[in-house]
Amino acid sequence: MTPMTTRYPLSALIRSGNFIDGQWVSAASGTRFAVTDPATGKTIAEVADSDANDARAATDAAARAFPAWRDTLPAERAAVLRRWHALIVANAGELGQLISLEQGKPLHEGRGEAMYGASYVAWFADEATRIYGDLIPQQQRGKRMSAVKEPVGVVAAITPWNFPLAMIARKIAPALAAGCTVVGKPAEDTPLTALALAMLAHEAGVPPGVLNLICASRERGVTAVADWLADSRVRKITFTGSTPVGKHLARESAGTLKKLSLELGGNAPFIVFDDADLDAAVDGLMAAKFRNGGQTCVCPNRVYVQSGVFERFADKLATRVAALKVAPATDPAAQIGPMINARAVEKIARHVDDAVSRGARVLTGGKRLAELGPNWYAPTVLADATPDMQLSCEETFGPVVPLFRFDDEAEAIRAANDTPYGLAAYFYSQDVRRIDRVARQLEAGIVGINEGALASEAAPFGGVKESGYGREGSKYGLDDYLSIKYLCQGGLA
Ligand code: NAD
Repeated sequence: MTPMTTRYPLSALIRSGNFIDGQWVSAASGTRFAVTDPATGKTIAEVADSDANDARAATDAAARAFPAWRDTLPAERAAVLRRWHALIVANAGELGQLISLEQGKPLHEGRGEAMYGASYVAWFADEATRIYGDLIPQQQRGKRMSAVKEPVGVVAAITPWNFPLAMIARKIAPALAAGCTVVGKPAEDTPLTALALAMLAHEAGVPPGVLNLICASRERGVTAVADWLADSRVRKITFTGSTPVGKHLARESAGTLKKLSLELGGNAPFIVFDDADLDAAVDGLMAAKFRNGGQTCVCPNRVYVQSGVFERFADKLATRVAALKVAPATDPAAQIGPMINARAVEKIARHVDDAVSRGARVLTGGKRLAELGPNWYAPTVLADATPDMQLSCEETFGPVVPLFRFDDEAEAIRAANDTPYGLAAYFYSQDVRRIDRVARQLEAGIVGINEGALASEAAPFGGVKESGYGREGSKYGLDDYLSIKYLCQGGLA
């Protein structure tokens, strides 16, 4: 069997050390922390609990490895990425199990995430060979001006728990394709999948020091990241996570003026106009809202339904939501898993209780599922939501659909844009002129038009307003890892 197709059992993919300079090492302090299965609370593994010393060791390795990796041919970097892609695909079943184990999503979603993450690796393998510059039309005799693109240098990648594989793959792949080296820190709830990816990257031929990952508990992780923020050798931070932490990183990295990509929180509106195909709108909402139990940054958080179709839409939706199968990932029929932790359930319950106390009607759900454990909440539909409710202003990040009623288009657009966030927005309508008007007016980086499933490695993913800046995927996804150098050559005939 060639290395490209090596398949590992799940147990072989579970690593516990940091991955620094091509080696698996303990945290300098020798400390570890437990990673648990959110469905059961059982410990899966204990991993290194890193601090600033480990972050520094990772940066040392990445800085040492940078010049040689920068100078590889694009085709050589592409070949390494293609081997990594093949290994992820060959192990997608086991990686999917690992994702489900530490994050809780149903097995088919875990495997789907592994394939989705892999698609970014394949995409950026190809993009590595298409990093063009420009020869600028001549301005003066005897002078030639050109613009070339160069890798920015050492990149720090910090990721959330909701997509343990895809979020880090879509940072590492473009960074490596551009010729950057990486120091990364996955979320404390879900570090195991990222470590498995590092193992496969090593096998694919990523040289020592080019990719380094450290794990850390929340508190120590803050000190580790602080070291990267202050280290002038780290030229870029790419972060996916919450808006408050993104703002903190922007402030704290100002001292060394790093390049930043921030993929932050959302508060996505989903508008159903009275000319919509209602069945298609229900299908789109189910797909967009209930992936990962409602724990995605592009999940519709506020659903606006025009008065004429409100009750019909609400009935259809509530019937579908009530039928969702809530179960651990080990159940092949599971559609909704546990929330990531008890803190997440607290927030969901707070949002629902607040909405109900302000007049929302529970059409289905609206309660914890304590019989399954502390991390479970029932898929919920609330009618008669209003803007004064907490779930109108904050990302709920759970399986809760609040339905707001509206009368006309201008009111819907005003309400949809009445948020500091601007990641995704969705709307359903069959009127072509309305489609054009609404798409132009929505303040969002991503707009779904009669479509609930938006993610693709070929599309630019990212937000506006307080949802951040930078784009992941697509032909634009490399720009964040490159800087432009202007060359001016004189003395020519
Ligand atoms: P989070 O901001 O709490 O944590 C994200 C990462 O930052 C983790 O690795 C965490 O350990 C680290 N971190 C936390 N505090 C830090 C600090 N003070 N200094 C340095 N690092 C710190 O987010 P989360 O709860 O893991 O993820 C959920 C959030 O991520 C939601 O808001 C969601 O919308 C957002 N998200 C956005 C996208 C996107 O593409 N825009 C994708 C997925 C998730």
